[in-house]
Amino acid sequence: VPASPVALVVHGHFYQPPRENPWTDEIPREPSAAPHHDWNGRIHAECYRSNAYARIFSPDARIESIVNNYDRLSFNFGPTLARWIERHDPHVMARVRAADEDQRRRLGVGGAIAQAYAHAILPLCDPADRRTQVLWGLADFERRFGRRAEGIWLPETAVSPETLATLIDAGVAYTLLAPEQIDGVRASDQDTWEEVDRDSIDTGRAYVWRHPDGSGRSISLAVFDGPLSRAVAFGDASTRADLFMESVKAAADRSATEGQRLVLCASDGELWGHHKKFADLTLAFASHVDAERRGFEVTNLGAYLKKHPPVWEARLASGPDGEGTAWSCSHGVGRWIRDCGCHMGSGMGWNQSWRGPLRQALDRIRWAASDFYEDAASQLLVDPWGARDAYGTVVDAPIPERDALLAMYGTPELESGGEEARGRARLLLELQRATLLMYASCGWFFDDIAGLEASLVIRLGAHALDLLQRAGGRAPTAEVLDLLAHAKSNRPEEGTGADVFRRMNGQRVTAVHAAAGAAFEALAAPFGDPANDLRAAPGFDVTLRGSLDEGPEGAGRFSGTAEVRHRRSGAADEMTVVASAGPRAVYDAEIQTEVEARRLTLDDLPEDARAALVISGLPALLGELDDPRVARLMLVAARQLPPDGETPDGVSRRALLSRAVLVLLGEDDGVPGNEKLHVATQLCDLLALLQGSPERRAIEERTWALIARGRPNAALRALADKLGFAPHPPHPSLPDS
Ligand SMILES: [Zn+2]
Repeated sequence: VPASPVALVVHGHFYQPPRENPWTDEIPREPSAAPHHDWNGRIHAECYRSNAYARIFSPDARIESIVNNYDRLSFNFGPTLARWIERHDPHVMARVRAADEDQRRRLGVGGAIAQAYAHAILPLCDPADRRTQVLWGLADFERRFGRRAEGIWLPETAVSPETLATLIDAGVAYTLLAPEQIDGVRASDQDTWEEVDRDSIDTGRAYVWRHPDGSGRSISLAVFDGPLSRAVAFGDASTRADLFMESVKAAADRSATEGQRLVLCASDGELWGHHKKFADLTLAFASHVDAERRGFEVTNLGAYLKKHPPVWEARLASGPDGEGTAWSCSHGVGRWIRDCGCHMGSGMGWNQSWRGPLRQALDRIRWAASDFYEDAASQLLVDPWGARDAYGTVVDAPIPERDALLAMYGTPELESGGEEARGRARLLLELQRATLLMYASCGWFFDDIAGLEASLVIRLGAHALDLLQRAGGRAPTAEVLDLLAHAKSNRPEEGTGADVFRRMNGQRVTAVHAAAGAAFEALAAPFGDPANDLRAAPGFDVTLRGSLDEGPEGAGRFSGTAEVRHRRSGAADEMTVVASAGPRAVYDAEIQTEVEARRLTLDDLPEDARAALVISGLPALLGELDDPRVARLMLVAARQLPPDGETPDGVSRRALLSRAVLVLLGEDDGVPGNEKLHVATQLCDLLALLQGSPERRAIEERTWALIARGRPNAALRALADKLGFAPHPPHPSLPDS
């Protein structure tokens, strides 16, 4: 069988910055992401989940199949995003893992690669941070995918010789670069370099880059095709499979490489469904059906490099002042350190001179934290920096696993110090995690210091200072504020970076807030199951002990103690609580800790904690939905939906009833009985959910799981028909999962 002339690799870089409030480890509501709670939720619905369950439609616009796009992609998930998906939608993470395994079976090598941990611009990192960011990224990958990563994604593809040397030292076999990042190539038998630029470099083959230490060690570089990647990101090629495939053909034609030519298309993964609506459908049809029909071999980089080990050598473009280069800045890596001229174009007469002071401020925090860490940690850990590198293998693991890792580095003082010493060691490593996270490159990428992304990294900096202080160090807050005061917002009403810092620091949530939230929740929903998570204390586990007295009209009083444990760090506090609810839902709490006495009302709680109080009774109610009699009552409720459906009442009723359909369809392996299927079908009819709405998609996906088992009965076929599925079994040439 002759080899296909084209090896097509489509790489998606899937990533979100750490949006969690670092004090609670939960994402607060981001109003600009409405109707979703936050941007992770919104982009998940439009992209991460859509690609795990991508639709292939028949010519008459009925669903023929739901496929997993990740099993045809080369991809990386940033650790901060992967952790969020794992926590919020583990089914999708399972599909991502299954796709990697599927490629291993089909191609011999998986399609997933790692990403440097916190998406820092590696050429701008100090050498120790650069190493840790790479090692933590590799460790996160190994934990998530159950194998070592061969390749790694460099944030913004930012590269320098030091960066590639770090990758080689860490055992990485390959990475991806943009064509403009290479300025010379030579064949294995040539001494002289052939100068190339972004238009003349041949991307139809991979290249090798040799470690400057002369050891002969090397890394492979795959260079994506510029025009193709631009056509997908900025043109029409992601809107129709045939246009996409024609761009692939044109890319192959540009290469003079003999034998099989590599065509590498690389973009942000969010392109496929979020930046470009419905591009997940283009990708599904192109990669599962159309590419093969045209004789392109859909593969991944690991498999391609096994077949075609690179023999040509490449030289890196050095960038201005030798700082390095990146794919999204035409001034080297200036975008992440100064007003280089790159911006998104919002606002006439705006400037980005805030970028320099922002980096200086965060560097100031890092210096203070690392000096303190080296000193304080050496009392508990034999090799503080080695321990930090190793902490990446457990950074998101449960506390006992983290403690076990640190014990391996423990001094006698850690061993004999009990829980107090373990808690302190953990706090010191959490401080290091905080300083690594705050370098997420998005903080500098956009146009203003007061924008969402810059605010996120400033909030991470404020949190790092808070941890430093709690660990007994001296937090250089005044110097940091001085530096940030030089970072002026383009919107005068927003002030400077120092004002952003103060606002972000106001989002600090402590154990005292958590105790108050838990006490208010106990007063608001005294019949709730106490084993349920208390939702009004995000990020903490709270155990209340004491007496709850109920008065008339919802009034009540709690008096007792609260044991509050921070979920992420394990830090525990004990306090006494007296909380009361007045007849008109006026809540207040008096809380006494070892060091302070405070009085809090609802207004002192974070917004999400207040919202949680409103719905704290809902889980108990939904638990009853398993009973079809309750579901029939739901039908009555559905008939009350206002015709336009878009009033606040209509929206929340629809959300509740869609949830009811999912409960009726079940989640485990069981097939629901016919009665439940009939009720679910009628509910779907009455709800008239919009095509593509998150509620409808979830119901479709559950229905597909039931159909795909084969031989659907009449009740299930009726539901599938109502949802717009084509008659099943589907076309035999289509994959079945
Ligand atoms: Zn630039």
